[in-house]
Amino acid sequence: MVIGLPSTIAKIPASINSPAKPAGPTLVPTIGHIVDPELVTVPSESGKGQDLARCPTCGVFVWSLYGGAGSLVKCVKAGTLDQAWKVQPDVHIYTRSKRSFFVLDGSVPEFEEYYKREVVWREDSLKRWEKLIHAI
Ligand SMILES: [Zn+2]
Repeated sequence: MVIGLPSTIAKIPASINSPAKPAGPTLVPTIGHIVDPELVTVPSESGKGQDLARCPTCGVFVWSLYGGAGSLVKCVKAGTLDQAWKVQPDVHIYTRSKRSFFVLDGSVPEFEEYYKREVVWREDSLKRWEKLIHAI
């Protein structure tokens, strides 16, 4: 279930100094409108496919399921957040397949493929993951 996706309203790029403003007509008439996401599996480099949830109206991908965690962990697409500047990436992965126009600044670790979470994740994240894997 997706509730009031802020991303369904067209906006210009925003930053902490330039709050998001509508750039065009509203794509979904009311915030708070509830829709069920459309789940699709797309090809992935691992060959296992990646499960994604997208808005059935506009097709924007909202989250993906974290590989190996079943449906217990969803990775929200930062670009769909109303205040995306409030979150920062911890790491960039699969950079070998990024588009050339997406420039990384080296502020967080970058990996051409995936990484060993034991090396990259914070200790509190690893503890949560340890609890989670027993529920999978
Ligand atoms: Zn939509």
